[in-house]
Amino acid sequence: MSRRADRRFMGRALELARLNYGLTGDNPSVGCVLVDPLGRIVGEGVTGEGGRPHAEQIALDDAGDRAALATAYVTLEPCRERSTGEDACSKRLIDAGIGRVVCAIADKHPKGAGGFAALRAAGIPVFVGLKQDDADVLYEDFFNLHG
Ligand SMILES: [Zn+2]
Repeated sequence: MSRRADRRFMGRALELARLNYGLTGDNPSVGCVLVDPLGRIVGEGVTGEGGRPHAEQIALDDAGDRAALATAYVTLEPCRERSTGEDACSKRLIDAGIGRVVCAIADKHPKGAGGFAALRAAGIPVFVGLKQDDADVLYEDFFNLHG
């Protein structure tokens, strides 16, 4: 996937994240777009009102089998653990066979951090920092409250 396409899909993920900004309780509003190797969007998600389900979970459900080998564009680092005991998004992405993960920004919240490490340990290439300036603005309040 070209750098230009990467920027376009991350732009879409940020657009999704903004849809539920302020509506997701203690959780940040995250956007996720899954794109197959041919460049087609196969799944999209935004954090649900009140904070769940998480964006990646919705996008993966949306994509089903088409998530295999897709690139996941996520506005914030996928979670490492869930307080509810459900599967974390990093595990869900690994189990779905995602081929690559592109994120705008790392999660500075101690409970959220560690998702990148889990993905990389599973052999999935992770790129962080695409459109980070936009994500900085979007998550400024979240990091100030929880960081
Ligand atoms: Zn999550």
